Amino acid sequence: MAASCGEMSLQPPRHSAESSKGQLSVCVLGSGSRGNAVYVSDGITSILVDAGFSAREIDRRMRQRGLDPAGLSAILVTHEHTDHMRGIERLVRRHRLPVYLTAGTRREATALHHLPEIHAFDCGRDFRIDTLAVRPFTISHDAADPAGFTISANGSRIGIATDLGQVTALVREHLRGCRLLIVEANHDPDMLMNGPYPWFLKQRIRSRTGHLANQETGRLLADVLHPGLERVVLAHLSETNNTPEKALTEMAALFAGTPVNFEAASQAIPTPLLTLA
Ligand SMILES: [Zn+2]
Ligand SMILES: [Zn+2]
Repeated sequence: MAASCGEMSLQPPRHSAESSKGQLSVCVLGSGSRGNAVYVSDGITSILVDAGFSAREIDRRMRQRGLDPAGLSAILVTHEHTDHMRGIERLVRRHRLPVYLTAGTRREATALHHLPEIHAFDCGRDFRIDTLAVRPFTISHDAADPAGFTISANGSRIGIATDLGQVTALVREHLRGCRLLIVEANHDPDMLMNGPYPWFLKQRIRSRTGHLANQETGRLLADVLHPGLERVVLAHLSETNNTPEKALTEMAALFAGTPVNFEAASQAIPTPLLTLA
């Protein structure tokens, strides 16, 4: 398990190169313990945050949403667990992509050491991937040097934080002011405790370096809620210890009366391409 672990509108699927220049678009290609990958584009620069499915599967899912894998500019990695890295090597070979990861992730990800273009970044130090401004921050998870990100272009910012055992002040600080958030809502504590997982695994998931429960995600979102927050995609839902309905019901109760749109990312099916207007 340690190895894996304005107005928002739904635009019709488009080739990344045809996306309106400057508008941030996001598609969660899939999320959960069997694979994670998020497509982010401003219409000029298109990247993947994690590539935890096979390269073939990532190609298939991108094409399913009208996105061209050949239009990718880079892969940004959150941490070394297989569910975030499975397809990187082959995607890099196929599309000649640079890979961005922390020094700690690079050290652990020995399979990537021979890749031609690896860029190590430090959490807390901003960098750019062409037109996208990336701000990485440390998250609490059982990996060497795991990161969450905010990504900005043309005054719009999105935040991505999956795989975190606890919400720190740092995480809250970084996720404030985003228009779209992709955050983990991993489990329902009762389902986890009454479920089939062995005790050690339940303990690991509940630990400060494990995964967030729905209620913890709700508290995080309440803390960072602001008038500009338009959409939240709940991610990394456990297929054993959570259901999309449970996670969404929890949020609906907490955020009734706010204009925030919620959806739950699925392991099997990409979200629509979500474009910030
Ligand atoms: Zn992980
Ligand atoms: Zn994971």
